[in-house]
Amino acid sequence: MSILLDLVTNIKKQSIEVIDLTHTLSENFPALVLPSEFGQVAAFKKEEVSRYDERGAAWYWNNFTVGEHFGTHFDAPAHWITGKNCKNGTVDTIGVENFIGAANIIDASKECQENPDFVLDVEFIKAWEKKHGEIEAKTWVILRSDWYKKDFEKDFINIDENGLCHTPGPNKEAIEYLIKKDVLGYGCETINTDAGLSFTWEFQLPCHNLMQGAGKYGLQCLRNLDKLPAKGSVIIASPLKIEDGSGSPLRVIALVENTNKG
Ligand code: MN
Repeated sequence: MSILLDLVTNIKKQSIEVIDLTHTLSENFPALVLPSEFGQVAAFKKEEVSRYDERGAAWYWNNFTVGEHFGTHFDAPAHWITGKNCKNGTVDTIGVENFIGAANIIDASKECQENPDFVLDVEFIKAWEKKHGEIEAKTWVILRSDWYKKDFEKDFINIDENGLCHTPGPNKEAIEYLIKKDVLGYGCETINTDAGLSFTWEFQLPCHNLMQGAGKYGLQCLRNLDKLPAKGSVIIASPLKIEDGSGSPLRVIALVENTNKG
């Protein structure tokens, strides 16, 4: 039997489980709002074309509008100015082999619960590697914060009365460490791969600046990371092939070995 047929057989037998890491694209999902002087990403909007009615008796379909960076979505290198000259830096030109990769799930859910401004640093990553094994090249590094369990209206964006967002993220040294390891990219459950307060840091928005500048990717607004092992899952994250696109909403799924079955 071929390894590919083995894969689908194991999925059918549920010895490989398929887990959805995606939020539903809905008008209830919050959009990132920038200060008013900047352009704004469009929130998801759906308009019914027909639903078995006088507009089309036998068929149902919708039109929708959505920004490239809304909901569970992918950041391409060209999303940031530092990545604007990267080879294959837009979603339509990225090599499709990069859309499948093993995942390292760094669990900081407890820390993020206690401190929404939690900063992922090299020390934390190295302690994780000591416990679970080294982060290899061409793998995703994903911060588990359990942020997806938060209330969209109340504390998902977590903006305070001064307009500052309090969400976790990596510092500059952590991103430099991961780039040296040649990872695929950095993923998170929050609306921003960078910490909410990171635009006030001396080196601003290190994940966007450095990851995208190094030709690497981002994944935001993931969910169900608490259902993945620290190591051993495979992530399929394939953005829409938007011409010259800087990112895209997408369906992210994870394959996880189920040791109880098969
Ligand atoms: Mn984005």
